[in-house]
Amino acid sequence: MYLQSRRTFLKGAAFSVAGAAIAKGVFTADAMAESIAESKFTDTPDSLSFYPPMEEWSDFKELDGNDWKRGGIERKGVRSEANPDGIEVNDYVIVPTACSNCEASCGLTAWIDKKTFTVKKYMGNPLHPASRGRNCAKGYATQSQMYDPDRIAFPLKRAPGSARGEGKWIRTTWDEAMTTIGKKMGDTLAVGDELSKKNCYVSCWSSK
Ligand code: SF4
Repeated sequence: MYLQSRRTFLKGAAFSVAGAAIAKGVFTADAMAESIAESKFTDTPDSLSFYPPMEEWSDFKELDGNDWKRGGIERKGVRSEANPDGIEVNDYVIVPTACSNCEASCGLTAWIDKKTFTVKKYMGNPLHPASRGRNCAKGYATQSQMYDPDRIAFPLKRAPGSARGEGKWIRTTWDEAMTTIGKKMGDTLAVGDELSKKNCYVSCWSSK
């Protein structure tokens, strides 16, 4: 929730201080009610109109958020070969996808730069029936997972002969990884103790 202005921010800060002071018994409950009445916060969006309509997803242009570093607002026109000093405008195709950072699998949209065919950012998907355009911070961090040079790009397994915690790994295949994990889960469900069985879950919101 964002504060509307510096003045309102100061009121909001005063409200926080008042809350702390009330806890110490310095102010009355009336003072707190007055502070709440005077605090003016901007509304969080009650609609998802800040997303472009789906009809524009195949061709959506947006000012580049980093472009201010190249100069002030005096520049004219869109940047191009003929106008290299112009303002950078991103030409996007917006593609629906889903977050894989937890079992909720919220909707995301990948904003793909048509010039480089790279994803420049992830936003929510307002048409997703569950998340409806909202995501937690991990959803937006999908960008880092895709392009972080230190990301783990393939499955790893503990190096033969090394002990847990030594941090020694070798590359393995997806087939071997899935087979190994599947077998261990199957063995646990077949002969494991109750707690181990409960800790084996394979799909959304359910323990199996
Ligand atoms: S956005 Fe957050 S809550 Fe939604 S699937 Fe991703 S990690 Fe889970």
